[in-house]
Amino acid sequence: MTLTPDEHLNALADIVRGCTSCRLHECRKQAVFGRGVSNASMMIIGGAPNEDEDKKGESFVGKIGKELSDLLSICEVPDTAVYLTSVLKCRPEKNKFPADTEDCAPLCVGYLKKQIEVIGPDVILLAGKHALQWVLYQGIGAPPDITRAVGQHYRRRDRFGETRFVVMHHPNDLLKNKSDVDRETSMTAVSSAWHHAKARREGQSTPWVRFTDLVPPPPPVFQTRSLFR
Ligand code: SF4
Repeated sequence: MTLTPDEHLNALADIVRGCTSCRLHECRKQAVFGRGVSNASMMIIGGAPNEDEDKKGESFVGKIGKELSDLLSICEVPDTAVYLTSVLKCRPEKNKFPADTEDCAPLCVGYLKKQIEVIGPDVILLAGKHALQWVLYQGIGAPPDITRAVGQHYRRRDRFGETRFVVMHHPNDLLKNKSDVDRETSMTAVSSAWHHAKARREGQSTPWVRFTDLVPPPPPVFQTRSLFR
């Protein structure tokens, strides 16, 4: 039986709501799967649900939701083109994203990859350093500083085919730092991502926009010594 994208997302959301694969299920009120249209042209991925999102069970709500929604409306991105979610689906204690050495993010990224596969967006905005690290740089190494990455376009073919990624500051960081420069660069990032998404939906490409191809390092070669000389 073939599922429609909506049915597929609903089935996945049910699995996530019951997931106890990592210790974060102990801190959550409820898992936050994501919201938006299943054929979204643009996906926006944050790090982990905060207190408001945990309470409501929805991504990007409260003050950060308003901040993001303002940015999107300035860049003329309609709500009907967007799907919002996060790397982790459960709120970490005190909103502290788990360390690299813990298993939470590698496990939860599996759900995110499935969401990306079902929705098939034209462009993905990565909001903040955790999304940059766990979506694009997992298996590659340390990502660049978020300030240097904001506004840059990336592609990672080994995991996401031709999908283009653009980096922005997380709305929560924009609210906390209140820097006009960071807001400006994030606005430019959203605008350039939307431009790329629209072009792709119309069957065009944007060859003038430079992007970086991220390639994981080759696996190490172990030299084995023959026992029979
Ligand atoms: Fe499962 Fe992800 Fe929640 Fe961990 S964070 S319990 S992997 S849904």
